[in-house]
Amino acid sequence: MAKTASLALRKLPSVDEVLRGALVQEAVTRFGRPAVVAAVRDTLATARAEGAAPSEAGEIAAEALMLLEVQEQSNLRPVFNLTGTVLHTNLGRALLAEAAIEAATVAMRNAVALEFDLGHGHRGDRDEVVRDLLCELTGAEDATVVNNNAAAVLLVLNTLAKGREAIVSRGELIEIGGAFRMPEIMNRAGARLVEVGTTNRTHKKDYVGAIGPKTGLVLKVHTSNYRIEGFTKEVGARELAALARERKVPLVNDLGSGTLIDLGRFGLTHEPTVKEAIAEGADLVTFSGDKLLGGPQAGFIVGRKELIARLKKNPMKRALRIDKIRLAALEATLKLYRNPDRLAERLPTVRLLARSKQDIEAAARRMLPVIAEKVGNGFEVSVTACASQIGSGALPMEKVPSAGLSIRVRGAKRGGRVLSALSIALRQLPVPVVGRIDDNALIFDLRCLDDEKGFIANLAALDLLEKPHALA
Ligand SMILES: *Cc1c(COP(=O)(O)O)cnc(C)c1O
Repeated sequence: MAKTASLALRKLPSVDEVLRGALVQEAVTRFGRPAVVAAVRDTLATARAEGAAPSEAGEIAAEALMLLEVQEQSNLRPVFNLTGTVLHTNLGRALLAEAAIEAATVAMRNAVALEFDLGHGHRGDRDEVVRDLLCELTGAEDATVVNNNAAAVLLVLNTLAKGREAIVSRGELIEIGGAFRMPEIMNRAGARLVEVGTTNRTHKKDYVGAIGPKTGLVLKVHTSNYRIEGFTKEVGARELAALARERKVPLVNDLGSGTLIDLGRFGLTHEPTVKEAIAEGADLVTFSGDKLLGGPQAGFIVGRKELIARLKKNPMKRALRIDKIRLAALEATLKLYRNPDRLAERLPTVRLLARSKQDIEAAARRMLPVIAEKVGNGFEVSVTACASQIGSGALPMEKVPSAGLSIRVRGAKRGGRVLSALSIALRQLPVPVVGRIDDNALIFDLRCLDDEKGFIANLAALDLLEKPHALA
C-alpha cells in the first residue's frame, strides 16, 4: 500500500509544470496569477492527501479550473425559496419592490443628499429621508431609523432605562431566534429587568406594584413567535398606557413585525398595526423593516418627539445607524403604502402572501410534468395541498392555504436516504432549489415561485447530476 501510494505521489506534476499549460495561462488572465497558483497548489495538496492521484499536469489543471469556477460563484447565491415560508430569515426575508431596488441602485451609483440640507447647504439628518413618511403612515409625532428592530429595542432600553428598571410581563420575555433574548438585551443595555406577573397571567396590579422611582420604562412586547392559550390574562396596551401616563413613565411597545396596514384586506388575520399601537397610547413603538413591511433590513422607532430626541442624542445611535442604500430602498417601500390599493401588485411580500391557493395550484399542475420527468421513474410526484407560513415570527399560528408538489420515493415505505439525496441534488443546481422534507415526502410549496421559465431551465442541469437512486 505505502509503496503504491508513494509511487503515485512521485508522479504528481510540479506547480510550475501545471502553470505552463495553455488553459492555465488563460485562467491567469481571467482570475489573476495569485488565485490560479493557489488553486493549483490546493488541487495538488488534495491529490497528495488522497494518496492515489491523477498524474497528468492537464488533469490537475482541469481540476484547478473547476475549483476556480466554484470560487467565482457568489456566496450569496439566489435560490428558489419553495419552503413555504414567505419571510424566511435564513433566506434573507422580504424581497424588495422594484421601486425600492431602483432607488437603492441610484443611491449606490451617486452621491446623495443623505445628511445634507439642500435648502441651506449645511449638514442635515439622515432620519429626515423617511421621517415624514413614517409619521404620516403611523400617526406618530416623530421617528428614527436604525439597523434592525433588535437595535431599535437596544437603543430604546439603553437610552431610557440604563441604570434604571425596565418592567416587563413574564408572559412577554421572549426569545427570537437564538441570540435575541429580551432579558439578555436588557442586561447589555444596562437596564435592570423587573419581571411582573406570571407566564400565563399578568394583571394591572402587578405593574402598579412594580412602578417606582427607579423605573425607566414599561415595555410591552408583541409575543411574535408563540402564543399562550387557555387561562391567560394580559394588560392591554391602552390600559397600560393610561397607567404609565398617570405614573409618568414611558410605555414602549415592541411590535416586532409591525405592519402598516390592516392585513385583513388580503385575507390574513388582523395583526396590530403601528398606527393602532400609537393610537392606544404607547410613547414609543419599535418594529422591523424586513418582516411584514416588506422592505430592507431596518428597525424603526416612532413616537413622542422628546423621547425620539433623546434617542438621537445617544452615541449608540451612530453605531446602529443604517446606510444610504437601505435608506433609499426604505423610502421607496414606505411610499408604496400611500396607495394601499396597489400594494398587492407592487410589494412582493404582500403579493406573495395574498396569492390565492387556486393560482398556486395551477402553477403546481404546470410544473408537475416537468419535475416528474426530471426526477425520473423512481419518484412519484403529485400536486398537494399545503400551508404556507408568513415567517420571521409574524402570525405564527396563521397557516395560509397553499399548494405545491410532493415528491415521494416510488414503492418505498420511507425512502429517507434517497429523498435526502434528491433534495441535496436539487440544492446543488445552479440556482439551488430549497424545499422541505415532511412525512417522507419532499414538499415544494410553490407560493413563492415567480419565475417558472427560469425554474424549468434551471432543472435541466439535474440531468448532469448523479441519479439519487444510485444511493438506494
Ligand atoms: C423580530 C422581532 C425582533 C427583532 O427584529 P429584527 O428586525 O429581526 O432585528 C424584536 N422584537 C420582536 C417582538 C420581534 O418579533
